Amino acid sequence: MSDIDSPKGASVVIIGAGATGLSTGWWLARSGVDVLVIDQGLVGWGASGRNGGGCSHHFSPLFVEEQRLWPQMDALLGYPTEFQPKRIRIAFDERQLELYGRAVRNAAHQGFGSTLLDAKQLREMVPLVGEEAVGGYFYDFGGHANPHRTVQAYAWAMQDHGGRVLQETRVAGFRRAGGRIIAVLTDRGEIGCDQVVLAAGPATQRLAAMVDVSVPMVPARAEMLVTEPLPLMPLGGVDGNGLYGRQTLRGNLAYGGGPHEWIDEDAVAGTPASTPLMCNIAGRLARLFPHAAHAKIIRSWAGVIENTPDGRPVIDRPETPGNMIVASLSSIGFGLSPATGHAIAEMITQGHCRFADLSSFSLSRFRGLEPDWASLQGWREPVSV
Ligand SMILES: Cc1cc2nc3c(=O)[nH]c(=O)nc-3n(C[C@H](O)[C@H](O)[C@H](O)COP(=O)(O)OP(=O)(O)OC[C@H]3O[C@@H](n4cnc5c(N)ncnc54)[C@H](O)[C@@H]3O)c2cc1C
Repeated sequence: MSDIDSPKGASVVIIGAGATGLSTGWWLARSGVDVLVIDQGLVGWGASGRNGGGCSHHFSPLFVEEQRLWPQMDALLGYPTEFQPKRIRIAFDERQLELYGRAVRNAAHQGFGSTLLDAKQLREMVPLVGEEAVGGYFYDFGGHANPHRTVQAYAWAMQDHGGRVLQETRVAGFRRAGGRIIAVLTDRGEIGCDQVVLAAGPATQRLAAMVDVSVPMVPARAEMLVTEPLPLMPLGGVDGNGLYGRQTLRGNLAYGGGPHEWIDEDAVAGTPASTPLMCNIAGRLARLFPHAAHAKIIRSWAGVIENTPDGRPVIDRPETPGNMIVASLSSIGFGLSPATGHAIAEMITQGHCRFADLSSFSLSRFRGLEPDWASLQGWREPVSV
């Protein structure tokens, strides 16, 4: 990844080289906007380089755009994302099947179909599944991609259009004048800007507070494990037993999924995986795929998700400073990223997102929030790791 040598100003400065920031940068650069993406680490340093790769968010107002874009992303970017369409969700009992049924009805309202699978059909499509599964749903939508390749693809594609990336550069503050941000202050100097996109994952709260914008969130550690390669299943995207993930093109099972651990935002970078969570995920994976229970775990990692009070993203332009957009995607930002970047780019170039109603992502929904909202809803106070 070639960085620019010395920072200079840009029309739009984006803080955070994750899927949100880079997708936004790519959409802007391909429209001819002068854009610079800054990250304290490397491209994909945060959750964007550590997630499950799922792209099936039918409860989001950006769902239709997410589904429209993913099948085209390799061609649009010019680099592979390893996007694989469709998903299967496995149920262990009738109650789970009924719950999944509600979810597929929500997708059906938006024009996306699914098929109920009985246990025999499920076992044909997912050979690793065992006798415990009673059935499942085949989603004729959604899918998964390789997060590492995707974030790199965004970065390269943005550079191809003249956008710039500045890695290993920490944003420490902002210079303001007349109710606007006129420069971003970094450990490599001051970078002038007309507009700022704050897409710094769990650090969004702290950075937004520096310009008096409150973004309520609590960071939590979530983990993934990877098994040795196994024979390829007909479909790589299979969820169930509270787990999400995918079978990679090499055959590894890469899975994660609760429980999460609340942590300090300061502890975020390079936070290690923990044995109790790994054991929990491994145990549930063996139950989901009994025919893979013998597989060795060859890798694991942790990432940090920022959790808003309602678990939904924030994409909003606060009144002051009027030239900053805040984007915090909570636990669903990878799959939505093609659509998120498109939406934010339109907010900048057109004044608003023309293809989706983003009002449910506004910060105003948190007005009147109790100061101790996190403990009130039973979330643990952050603890240092
Ligand atoms: C284990 C796990 C599994 C997940 N599975 C899925 C999934 O299957 N599907 C899905 O859609 N989502 C999933 N997610 C959530 C998804 O990864 C995130 O929502 C998404 O990556 C957020 O992207 P982002 O660009 O907004 O933030 P991030 O990827 O967190 O990027 C923020 C960037 O900001 C940088 N930064 C922070 N502070 C500063 C600073 N002061 N100066 C400069 N740079 C700074 C960080 O280094 C980081 O690179 C998962 C997350 C985890 C952890």
